Order: sequence, then C-alpha cells, then structure tokens
Amino acid sequence: MSGRPPGRKAATRVGGAGPVLFVGGVTVTLEQSAGTSRSDEHHGMSTHEVVLLLETDPQRGLSDAEAARRLDRYGPNVLPAAGGGGLLRRILRQFHNPLIYVLIAAGVVTAVLGEYVDSAVILAVVLINAGIGYAQESRAEAALDSLRSMVRTEARVIRDGELRAISSDDLVPGDLVVLEAGDKVPVDLRLVRLAELRVDESALTGESVPVDKLEAELPVGTPVADRRNMVWSGTLVAAGGGAGIAVATGAETELGQIHRLVGAAEALATPLTRKLARFSKVLTVIILVLAAVTFAVGLLRGQDVVETFTAAVALAVGAIPEGLPAAVTITLAIGVTRMARRRAVIRRLPAIETLGSTTVVCSDKTGTLTENQMTVRALWTPDAEFEVTGAGYRPDGEVRGDGRGGDALRWSLLAGAGCNDARVREQDGEWLLAGDPTEGAMQVVAAKVGIDHGRLSADYPRRDTIPFDSKRQYMATLHDERATGRTVVLAKGGVERIVSMCRGEMGADGQIRPLRADAALRAAEELAGRGLRVLATAVRPPDGPDDGFDEVALPGTLVLTGLQAMLDPPRSAAAPAVRACHSAGINVKMITGDHAATAGAIAGQLGLLDAERPDRVVTGTDLEELPAEGFGEAVDRAAVFARVSPEQKLRLVETLQQRGHVVAVTGDGVNDAPALRQANIGIAMARSGTEVAKEAADMVLTDDDFATIEAAVEEGRGVFDNITKFIVWTLPTNLGEGLVVLVAIVLGATLPLLPTQILWINMTTAVLLGLMLAFEPKERGIMRRPPRDPARPLLTGALVIRIVLVATLLVAGAWWVFQWEYSNGADVAQARTAAMNVFVVVETFYLFSCRSLTRSAWRLGFFTNRLLLLGVAAQALCQLAITYLPPMNTIFGTAPIGPDVWLRILAVGAVSAVVVAIDKRLRHDLG
Ligand code: ADP
Ligand code: MG
Repeated sequence: MSGRPPGRKAATRVGGAGPVLFVGGVTVTLEQSAGTSRSDEHHGMSTHEVVLLLETDPQRGLSDAEAARRLDRYGPNVLPAAGGGGLLRRILRQFHNPLIYVLIAAGVVTAVLGEYVDSAVILAVVLINAGIGYAQESRAEAALDSLRSMVRTEARVIRDGELRAISSDDLVPGDLVVLEAGDKVPVDLRLVRLAELRVDESALTGESVPVDKLEAELPVGTPVADRRNMVWSGTLVAAGGGAGIAVATGAETELGQIHRLVGAAEALATPLTRKLARFSKVLTVIILVLAAVTFAVGLLRGQDVVETFTAAVALAVGAIPEGLPAAVTITLAIGVTRMARRRAVIRRLPAIETLGSTTVVCSDKTGTLTENQMTVRALWTPDAEFEVTGAGYRPDGEVRGDGRGGDALRWSLLAGAGCNDARVREQDGEWLLAGDPTEGAMQVVAAKVGIDHGRLSADYPRRDTIPFDSKRQYMATLHDERATGRTVVLAKGGVERIVSMCRGEMGADGQIRPLRADAALRAAEELAGRGLRVLATAVRPPDGPDDGFDEVALPGTLVLTGLQAMLDPPRSAAAPAVRACHSAGINVKMITGDHAATAGAIAGQLGLLDAERPDRVVTGTDLEELPAEGFGEAVDRAAVFARVSPEQKLRLVETLQQRGHVVAVTGDGVNDAPALRQANIGIAMARSGTEVAKEAADMVLTDDDFATIEAAVEEGRGVFDNITKFIVWTLPTNLGEGLVVLVAIVLGATLPLLPTQILWINMTTAVLLGLMLAFEPKERGIMRRPPRDPARPLLTGALVIRIVLVATLLVAGAWWVFQWEYSNGADVAQARTAAMNVFVVVETFYLFSCRSLTRSAWRLGFFTNRLLLLGVAAQALCQLAITYLPPMNTIFGTAPIGPDVWLRILAVGAVSAVVVAIDKRLRHDLG
C-alpha cells in the first residue's frame, strides 16, 4: 500500500475507485461511502483498520519526520477564512441603512430634476460612505480574528512515542491525539482509547447535553451525530479523557465542511451599536417628515419646485450623521487593539462596553491573584513538624525539624511525589515545570530528601488514577509495589477532605494508630493562617485491606501521613490593581477552592480585607447554611469565598447580578464554564485555563494576571468615553445644518448652504476631525470615578444642553456671516462659502473642547493627541482647496473669499470656543 497518501482524501479516492479496499489483509467495504465526497468510513472500521489506513502507530504515533511530510502535503490544521459569497452581502449591508436610503432617494430625484452635478456628489457620498464602512468593518473583524488567534490552542499529541504539546495548527492526519477534560477537540478523531469520555458537541449539533463516547466499530452509514466512536473538531471534552487518530484536519473536518465559522456578522454588534441603529431609525423618520413639510410649505408659498426640493434635500442630508456608525466601529476596534496590547484579548465585542460598567470582579486566587509558583515551606506529620529551605523548582534545600519524621514523613513525601502528574526537569541550568504547580512543589520537596521521581515510578508503577477535580478536592493513584507485589494507594488533597477519608494516622515508627483529626485540622489551620496552601497526604499501605479503587471504595480506608504547606506569593501587580479597582468603585472578591485561612491571609496581603470586618471571609459550607433572606447581603458584603465549588460560584454570580451588579468572573476549569457564561463578562486564562473555559469567556488574559483585568476595565472606560466624545462633537453639526436650512425656509430667504456643501462638511470633518477623537488617550482619573450605570442614557442632560448650545452657535454664526457678506455686495456663492467655512471652523474649535467632556481643553496638553493635530491640518488644506480651486468651485458652487472674511469666520470660531468653555466650567457634573 505504498504511495497511498493517508487520510480522508485518500480513502475517498480509493473508495470511489472500487467498492472494496484491502487494508493489510482486512477487507473494508466502502460501498455506502463511495461516490459521496464526504464519505466517512472511519467509524465503520476497527481501530486496527484505521491505524493501517492512516499508516500510523496506536502507541508511538507518527514520527516527527513523517508528521513534517504530511504537514507539507495536507497543510496546516486551520479553517479557511470566510469569503466568496459573503463579500457581496457585506457590501450590500453597507447600504442597508435608512439614512442611506434617504440620501439615495435625494440623489435620484436631484438627477431627475436635471441637477446632475449635485446628484453625482450625493451619490458619490453614498459610495464613499459605503466604502469606508466596508473597510472599517473588515478591519475591525480582521483585528478581532487575529486577536482570537493570539490565544493559541495547544494540542497534546504522541509522536515518536513521546507526549508532546504542539500548536494545534501543526496536527496532521494520522496523528495520535490525546484528549482530557477541558480540551477543545482540534481535529476529527477516530477514538482508539478512552476513559469515560464525554464530549459537548453543541458547536456542531446544537445539542448541549454531552455525548458519551465509545471505541467500538459502528455500522457504516451511521449518521454523523451518532458516530460515537468519533470526536469532531471544535467540540469540547466535558469529562474523562481518551486518545484518537486524526482522520481529517483543517477544511476537511466536519466543522470545516459545514463552514461554521465564528458568527462574523453579529460579532460587531454591541448594545451601543444597536442603540445607535434604533436612534438612526427614529432620526430618519423625523428628518423625512421635516423635509416633506418643508417641501409642502415651499410649494404652498408658490416657490420654485427645484429650489424647494433642493432645500428639502439640504435639510435631509444635513441632519443625517453619516460618520456615526463608522466612528463607533473604529473606536471599538481601537479599544480592542489597545486592550490586546495590555494582554487582554476580547472575544466578544460587547464586553468592551460592559467592562466600563463592571461593579464587581470575582477573581480566582491561585494563578490570577497569586503567582502560581509553589514552594513547599513546611511539613507536618502526626509526630513532628518541619521547615523546608530552598526556593523555586530547584531541588536544593533541606527539611529541618526537631522531631522524628520517620515512616510518616517518608510516606507523606512518597504520596506527594507519586500521586502526581507534574514533571520538573533541568534545562540550561534552569528548573522548569510541566504541569500543575501544586504538584510540582510536592515533587521538588520529595527530591530535596532524595526521592527521585524516575525511581519512584519504577518501584511503584501506577495502575490507575482518580484525577484531581476542584469538586472532588483530592487525587488518588493506585500503584503496584514491585518489592512485594502488593498494591498501594497514594492520595493527596484538601485537608478536610483527606482527613474525612482516613481511618487512622501513621506514626514515625510506621505504626497505624487512631486518627486525631483535631490535631491535623488545627495544624492545617495554623499553617494556612501564614498564607500557605495546605494539602494533606494519605496512603492505603501495601499491607492494608484491598477494598478496590474508586470514589466509593476509597473513603474510610486511608491512613493520614501528613500535611504539606506551600507558599504561593501574591503577584506584585495584584495589590495595586486591587487598590485601583476599589478607587474606581469596583468591588473585588476572591473565589477559591483553597482553605479559608490561606485565602484570608493572601486576601489580607492584597488589601481585600479590612480588619474591622471579620465577616468578609465566607466558606462554601457557610453559604449552604445561610438563610435565604440575608443571603444576598452576606454575599455582597464578603470579600473572600473559600472552599467554594463551581456550582456555588455560579450561584454567587447570579446572586450578585440579582442585586444589580455587573459582574466580571474569572475561571479556568471545565466546571467554571456555566459561571463564565452567566457572568456579564467571563474571563478565562490563556496559560492555565482549559479550552472549555476560553470558549465560554468574553475575554481572555494572555498573562493570567489580575492586574490585566483592571487594565481592561480602564481601557473599556476609555473606549466608551471616546465614543461619547464623538457623538457629542458630531451631533451639533447635524442639528445646526438642519436648523440653518429650516430658518431659511421659514424666513423665505436664500439657502446659506447647498446640499453638496453640507455633504462636504459632514464627510470631511467626520473623517479628518471627529475620527481623531477615537485616538484620544484615556483621561486622567478615569479609574477614580464610579462605574457607568448601563441603564444611564449615553447623553446626560448636560451633554444634550451642550449639543443644543453648539448647534445654536453654528446657526447664529453661519447666518450672521452669510447675511453680512450677502448684504455687503458679495455674490451668493461667496456668502455660502463663508457660511460653510464657519461651520468647519467652529467644529474645529469645538473638537479641542470635546477631547475631554469635563475638563478644560487647555489642561489636556496640546500635543497629547498628535493625530488630531494632523487631522486639523488636513482639514485646513481641504477648506483652502474647496474655497480657491476652480474645479472645486464648479462642483460645489463655492467661490474664493478675501482675508477679511476669514477674520470674521475665525472670530465666530473664537467666540464659540469661549462660550463652550464657560458652559463647561458651569457644569462640572458631567459624566
Ligand atoms: P484554587 O485554584 O482556587 O486554589 P483548587 O480548586 O485548585 O482551588 O484547589 C482547591 C483545593 O484542592 C486546594 O486547596 C488543595 O487542597 C486541593 N488541590 C489542589 N490541587 C490539587 C491537586 N493537583 N491534587 C490534589 N489536591 C489538589
Ligand atoms: Mg486551581
């Protein structure tokens, strides 16, 4: 069978060539699948046949060389980008906006009336607008996509007989992929080994109840959803584990075939953009009614039809805020990028907005508030206590104590090191950990007294495992004792849990005697009070009763050997970040599975507790016992939740939300997914988190650090500020333009602005001036104000007053300058040019004011937003061009104006700036 490329393509091709495929002497009938391009015969084969077909090895996997060859041939395991048919829809979507309909209609009617230049300008604006919208949307989406890929998915694969962690992009057909709870399945796999594997296939089937998997061969033709010996790319391992052979990668996977990519269209919608969309609908109706009334009034007065219609169009185009949607999208996209730079990756855009309103952050302790670099500092046995020296994962240090550890100490260290999946190894003089830091620390302390991991696993080969689970709170392993041929159980876990499973304790002499649970719990309490994380160790000795090995049989058979207490220092950035949150009116709560005393001590170091409020540490047990009334209040008051199970975490989030909080929650395990989904912002950890948690999260922290949450909140507030600034800046122009036209009509006077001139103002200033507000740096003191109430309207009363004020200034200024020129001998084109420039100049002055909604423009520093200065310069050039270049004069009906006119225009700008500054001074209370 040499020369046949492995994988689905090959099988399909061969299947198509004949009804029967000979694989290493095994006949596989492919009749059902022959001819269907998506044939999937793997479920109908035995694992042996799959192994032969894909030319791999069920124990050793592919060789590195073969994997590289296949990667070359089949390409990386990535889904193709969306495209093709989506493009046209996307372009059309840019025109799908009631405001744009109005513009198009105006353009068409203008053309019918014979005003071809005007019509062309209007339609050009429509096209430019759509172009900008399209480009921005694509860029924002690309930014989001590339951010998503920043959170790289690792896959565990066996190659050359060794377990490796590689990027899931590098998987190839034939790879032997290992799965465990919390993983996202990286490719389509035919299972070859499994242990209670349950997979959440909702990404493919929409069915959220996890599916139990099996290994056996199934009848060929079983529907995809029922092929329980296969797991599909993109689904999530809910429980258990297993291994399978990759049968399809990238676009060839089931997921690739149905092309179910992350929903791109809705990904850019947020509550704010939806609110704005509703706003434009209402606005359109108002504008249409006003324009119609204008037209009717003009006609009744016996004015010229074309002129009246032009006025109506001017009103309509003036009042439409063309730049608004693009500006909002761009500001959001810039926010996403800024957050990524600070190591917070946004997975769902609405999170940006929600971040600014967050009132409670519930954070994990281990790894987020602390370093998750554990070192065992103290050991306790029923007879003696010890201190341990040395730091980090380097196994240099000693165990010192007065008393005798003897057998109890030895068995405690053996249990810690043997019931353990971590690996500590030296590389280039540095000691590196692969696996759980808690377990790493226990390996290291054992190594310090000479218990070598290699020898341990040779002397006590492992037969079975009950893995650690934050709900179960312990881990246990079953070993053979080579020397005697008997079996021994090693266990470690939360102190209360392990102690409750023990029937006795071990003395220094190795004798088993009655358990003194009190002494052990007191010792644990004392160690935890020092901020140490305490685990208990226990064994079922080789000469003990052999009662079977599972969760039901184990309790009551163990013998307590001791306690191990490890230091996990708080992250240095965490305490300042907690302080920043507090001053920003955000409550920080620690939720942990760890001991209450440990959690309390660390919380104290981080400034989460104050001494006067002793009831701020609550345990999972306390939560269960709290009466229903008082519950919410107690939850609100507490700052630390210890020994909390994932279900309780979910309940905490719900309770806080019922009390009106906007809750951000961190989580890393499979069990955390419901809480992450329930939270207003679910936050997962890129390094230590499972794929399931990342999938459920709105935001992922690439450095796992609590301080990054605080940074993201800060950026979120900045984004919202900048959007508000743009809106407050842009609306007066639209209002002013509408009013100028309305006044002219009411007075029966000449129009001071033509529709094309109005469009010019709107388009150029939105892009060159307004958009630059998106780059405005965050305001000082942004983390000293309270969270934004999500129910509060975007524009507060004071801001609405300011918008009306500026609009009035625009109308008065433009009207005054226009009349002055017109009645002093200038022709109408010159007077209009002057009026148009008034609008732009006033907007420019106002732009500087809008850089801050509350503080005076002078306080911000002139050069803190250089892009804005560049934009102003570009706008100035544009104004000179439209005023003085003959072709522009023809198109837009403008004419050159003299320097004295400019003086009057600038004077109007200066006066308006002073008035706005005074208004700002009088109304400090803006949000
Ligand atoms: P957190 O991450 O909030 O510190 P965990 O749920 O990881 O909480 O741990 C809760 C408790 O479970 C710990 O205090 C410890 O006693 C125990 N534990 C943690 N990791 C392990 C492990 N790998 N094996 C056995 N027990 C563990
Ligand atoms: Mg943990």
